[in-house]
Amino acid sequence: MLTYLDEKQEKVFTIMIKSTIDKDIFVILKERRLRITYPRIEILRVLKSTRNPVTVLEIHSKIRNKKIDLATVYRTINAFLEKQLVTDIDFKDEFKRYELTIDRDHHHHIVCKICGKIENIENCFTDKMVKEAEEKGYQEITHSLEFFGICEPCSNKKLH
Ligand SMILES: [Zn+2]
Ligand SMILES: [Zn+2]
Ligand SMILES: [Zn+2]
Repeated sequence: MLTYLDEKQEKVFTIMIKSTIDKDIFVILKERRLRITYPRIEILRVLKSTRNPVTVLEIHSKIRNKKIDLATVYRTINAFLEKQLVTDIDFKDEFKRYELTIDRDHHHHIVCKICGKIENIENCFTDKMVKEAEEKGYQEITHSLEFFGICEPCSNKKLH
């Protein structure tokens, strides 16, 4: 099974097995033709274990190996973006957030304007919009659609 690995990759793979890192991560990188490096494995692990969109700073703070610096996280995320392994999500604040595209169904988010809590909106009814864009001759259409509101606990606090 591992015969297609070169020596360097085999070394990384051995490290992964030793540190009980999810073998999926290795496959994901391979499929996207991304070179397998320790920072990529580690950042993917963080992204896989996170349900909500996260900022580069949050990713960095969850990395176990502190030798991986912020610049590396930025570079890695950009490489992942290029391969559409992550999407960037804009909640109209000063931070860009990122989320894996694999491993989960297409969905949107709602952010509480007071406490910043993020929840998923699972329904998406954009078929007609996409169709309209296609009729205009567009291809490879993606969309980003985020919602903002005040969550129930925050609304209750406002009343008291
Ligand atoms: Zn999400
Ligand atoms: Zn809230
Ligand atoms: Zn959608």
